[in-house]
Formats: sequence, C-alpha cells, structure tokens
Amino acid sequence: MLAERAWFDLAFSDAHLPCLIVAVAHMTGRMDLLRDEWRPSYPPYSETQAGNLPATEQVNVANALRDLVPKLIGRPLSDFPRPDSQSLKQLMHFVAGQRIPDRYIPLLLEELGLNQHSDESTFAGPPTARDFKVLVIGAGMSGILAGVKLKQTGYSYQIIERNDDIGGTWHANNYPGCRVDTQNHLYGYSFHPNYDWPDHFSTQDALKDYFRDIVDHYGLRNNIQLRTSFEVAHYDESAGVWRARLVGADGKSEEVTANAIISAVGQLNRPKIPPIAGQEFFKGAQMHSAAWRNDVELAGKDVAVVGTGASAFQVIPAIAGVARRLTVFQRTAPWVAPTPDYHRAVGEGQKWLLKSLPFYANWYRFWLFWTMTEGTMPTLRHDPNWRAKDGSISAPNQRIRNALIEKMQDQVGERTDLLQKIIPKSPFGGKRTLRDDGLWIATLKRDNVELVTEKIREITPWSVVTADGTERRAEVIIYGTGFEASRFLEPARIFGRGGEELTALWAGDPRAYLGITVPGFPNFFCIYGPNTNLVAQGSIVFISECAVHYIMGALELLRERRAAALEPRPEITDAYNARVDEENAKMAWGMPGVTNWYKSASGRVSQNWPFPLADYWQVTRRPDPADFIFTEAELPAVGAKDL
Ligand code: NAP
Repeated sequence: MLAERAWFDLAFSDAHLPCLIVAVAHMTGRMDLLRDEWRPSYPPYSETQAGNLPATEQVNVANALRDLVPKLIGRPLSDFPRPDSQSLKQLMHFVAGQRIPDRYIPLLLEELGLNQHSDESTFAGPPTARDFKVLVIGAGMSGILAGVKLKQTGYSYQIIERNDDIGGTWHANNYPGCRVDTQNHLYGYSFHPNYDWPDHFSTQDALKDYFRDIVDHYGLRNNIQLRTSFEVAHYDESAGVWRARLVGADGKSEEVTANAIISAVGQLNRPKIPPIAGQEFFKGAQMHSAAWRNDVELAGKDVAVVGTGASAFQVIPAIAGVARRLTVFQRTAPWVAPTPDYHRAVGEGQKWLLKSLPFYANWYRFWLFWTMTEGTMPTLRHDPNWRAKDGSISAPNQRIRNALIEKMQDQVGERTDLLQKIIPKSPFGGKRTLRDDGLWIATLKRDNVELVTEKIREITPWSVVTADGTERRAEVIIYGTGFEASRFLEPARIFGRGGEELTALWAGDPRAYLGITVPGFPNFFCIYGPNTNLVAQGSIVFISECAVHYIMGALELLRERRAAALEPRPEITDAYNARVDEENAKMAWGMPGVTNWYKSASGRVSQNWPFPLADYWQVTRRPDPADFIFTEAELPAVGAKDL
C-alpha cells in the first residue's frame, strides 16, 4: 500500500487527470468526484491536453484520490460492478468535457471491456468438415490483424508479403524521423494494448517491433510467406474459387487456389515520384521517402527535399542538422497542429497507471478516440452560408485557422519572410494536418535551410532549377511526394465474374461497398479500402478492426447459408457511394480547388470516410444478408496443398 501511494505521487504528475478521476469514479461509484471545478476543457490544440485544471485544483484532485487509488491497483476489471447507463453517460461526458451523442455508448462499452471483449473471435468459423481457405495480400497492420482473426476463428489462411519482412508501412518507411502521428495509445489493436510505448508518438522501429510481437504472440509466422508478390487472380465461377498467381523473389511463380481473398495492401503502398524535366540526368542520388537508401550519405551534402506532406515534414527536421545545405521545395503549405507531446517519452508514472489502475487505460483510449473523432468534425464541414475569403469554410474552421496562424506568428519571430510561405491557402482539414512541437519552424529558420515556394522547372546534373531561373545545388534529392493512393492494388490484376478486371472497373477512381466488397468480385474483401481513410479523425487501426470484424461476419454468413460466395448488390453499392460522395463534397478535403491525395484524377474523393467514426463501427458490426448476392452452391473445398 505504501509503495503504491509513493507510485501514485509519482504517477500523478504524468497522469491524464480527467481519465484518472473518471476511472476512480467508475470503480468506486463515487460520482461526486465528477465535480464542476474539475471538469476538463480542451481548447483546440491547447498546450496541455490534460484538461487545463488550475494548479490548486490539481492538488485537490490528488488529495481526493490519494487514498482511493492504492485500493484499486492491480484488481481485475471483473471486481467492479458495471455502472448503470446514466452513470456511464456522466463519466463519458465528464472525460470528454462535453456531451457525447448516445450512439457512442455501444462503442464505449466495448472500449471499456464492458461488453464481451476478448482477443478470441466472436465468430464460429468453418466446421472442420468444410475447408475454407483465405489468401491475405500484405503483412502490414491490416494483414496481420486479418491473420489473427482468421486463425482464432479456425480458417486456413496464408498471408503473402512482397517485402522481406512484416510491418507494411512500418517496414517500408524507415526514413530518418519516421514516427506515428496518431497517439500510440490509440494506434494499436484494441485487443492487444501496449502499455509500454516508449513515446506518445513512437518511432518506426517501435511500431515495427509491436507488429513483430503480435505475429509471434498469435503464432502467425508459419502462415506468412515473405518476398512473394501477388501478381494476378481470376475468379473461377464454375468452381466458386479464386485462382491466384504469386511470384517469389527468385522470379518463380506459384498458382494457389483460395475461397476468399483479402487485400490488406492499404492505400499508401505505391510511392509516387513526379516526372520532372532532366531528372534522368541527375548525377547525385535520388530516393523516395518510402524507399530510403541508407547507403546514401547526407552528412555535409547539399540536399533537396521535394514536398512538405506528412513524410517530408518528418524527414526535414531529422536531416537538417546533418546536411550542409537543405533546400525544401514546397508546393502547398500544410496546416500544423501544435502537439507538445510529439517527441515526448511516456512518463514512468503514466505507464504504471496504464498497467496497474483498472479502467484507466480504457478511459484514456476512449478519450484519445473522442478527441480525434467527432470532437474535430464540426471544424471540417463547409457552411454554405460562409463568405470569408481567407480560405476558411465555416466559423469554427476559421477559428482554428486563426489560432494556428497565431502560433506560427509566435514561432517565426523576426523571420516574417517565412510567414507568408507557411500559411496555407487551403482550408484547415483540406489535407492531413501535421503535428509539431515547434521543431518545424525552428528547422525552417536554420541558417542552412531554405524554404522555396517557387515551382520546380527542371533538374540538372547537380541542381534543381525553379521557374524563376534560380539554380540551387543538390547532391541528393529526396522525394517526399506521396503515393499513388487511388491505384493501390496495381500492378496486380484481379479478374472477377465474367472476366471483369478490377483496375479497369475502377479506372483510377476506386469504389467499394463500405470500402470492403465490390460487385462482381465474389469473396474479395479490402481492408482500409476505398473511402475509409481518415483525414483528421482517428486511427486507421480502428478502421481496419472494423473492416476485419465485418469480413469475419461475411464469412460467417457464408457458413450459415452454406453458400460458396457473396458479393454486394450493385444498387446498394451505388446508393452507398452516392451518400459518401454527397458527404465528402461538404468536407474541407472535398472542396473545389483543394488539391490532395484523397481525390482521384476525376476530382472525386475516393479515399476518405466523411462520416463520424461511430457510424463506421456501427455499419460494420454485422453484414446485412440483404446487401449481398449469394452464390448458393455447396462450398467447394480447396485441397490443403493448394494453400
Ligand atoms: P503527401 O501527403 O501526398 O505529400 C506529398 C508532398 O509532395 C506534398 O507536399 C505535395 O505537394 C508534394 N508534391 C507532390 N508532387 C509534387 C511535385 N510534382 N512538385 C512539388 N511538390 C510535389 O505524401 P506523404 O507525405 O508521403 O504522406 C501521405 C500520407 O501518408 C499522409 O497523408 C498520411 O496519411 C500518411 N503518413 C503518415 C505518417 C505517420 O503517421 N507518421 C507519416 C507519413 C505519412 P501538394 O500538397 O501541393 O500536393
């Protein structure tokens, strides 16, 4: 008890106070702890996200909790009665500092472990007499997740991965400065929390280690085939199976048959390097941020970085101290959200609370989830009556804009020349908002760094020349120029019913039902597929968990109906996409004139989910049989050697 009290005093300064108060009130039933003077407020992008309690009140909170917390430490969640729904709502509103719509309650119950919530699948899986094989493409965050759930449910599965290691984006992106820009206590599987994240936003190696641990913990290793590319798949209608060709690193191809295919390649796996005149004559080294070359020396070199998106934004500060001169070519300025924790380690006290105080981690995760979801949505929606000419799209959007510009002004100091270059012309939310703790502007202010906003005209053997004729020497060019987001399955070819090809059908503008299934492509499922990307609200792990839950439900439907395959009804898919398009057109990222990787060449937003996250959770709880066309045949078995 004494040791725990000492720990509490240590932990208190690290704790997220609203979550601490709510966790204790939850377990003790002491709703009187939800005092008005302790109610948090979260001004957008304030310096502290811990509720902004005055120091005197923080002392009062510590005094009120010091004797209560040690009695709760280390006890199982089942020790505590489930709060009634009225109390739950009170807890939820308190931690969020605002009223939360009732439709979040089922999601909250699951996050708090108050519903059935374990790492065992809730789906029954195939009876042993019926063999059912699933081919998963990609061993990144989504493919590994699919593997865990398929294994728990008892399906045969094989995950193929073109790289020589697992990790997907966390394997491919190992450029200097790479770290997750969603809080790590949210960016992780809900069923496998990590209370030992080193940082609030951990670096790439920590993320890759987490996914490696998952592969080992759930015993997936033997089902992952590395250095293997998925080349082509045809749906064999007469047999009701997919026949796929895989190619190994040695160039040898292999035919496999599967009852279902899950694409877990995500949206950001094909690096994009824009063609620039003279590029091919450049004599130095060129590389994309997602194909980093450790053999390229940057120390003492003149380095050019093209782009200021999420990747370049992390690379630039990390290499500025190494390069002799660093020239940053910016086409469009990004919005930058002050995030004091961005490079901060998680305190030992916070780790102790996450591990030892029941429900604290659950409330913390829910709070992170909330602040990044509906909490931000009203600022991103266009008000048709809004007439300001500063690029904002509504009053709340302009308020954020003004607050962020004020922060920039504070930081540039005497370098007012920088200000006009770094204030975005597009609305807040038009592109991904980047996170920063002051390092970005500090980097741009360095003597050896130049931010160039003039358009690039050409590349010569040792320089980059802008449209105004200025030539800047470069020995290395780094392209932080993003990905072919709407061509994410290419160059793989997928032929569905009637020989229809998916890439031809999509024509660079992918669409799917709930981002998961596609008419004409039976038993073909996508995770993090079309229109499931999040711009400012939340973690893609959440989206992937929803999709995998839905896919498992779809496979369960096949089992229940003894059907061979399912595909979504075209009219349901079209109506769904019309709703998505209508909503995306109202959002900052869908505004005419706003350019970003979320729009396909046609201008349609093909990547983003425009609704609240609770809605994606709700629609993916259980697939509705009425949405599908079933191939009502006895399920064909696939021989064990086929997969
Ligand atoms: P991106 O957001 O598409 O940014 C590409 C950058 O290159 C933009 O600044 C773009 O300018 C510029 N660019 C493209 N073509 C150009 C050209 N021809 N000339 C000059 N500039 C050009 O790509 P990204 O930075 O790789 O990020 C993609 C997504 O990956 C992010 O939105 C995020 O979802 C994810 N990401 C996440 C993390 C993380 O969690 N840590 C890190 C990196 C990336 P314009 O803005 O004018 O197009």
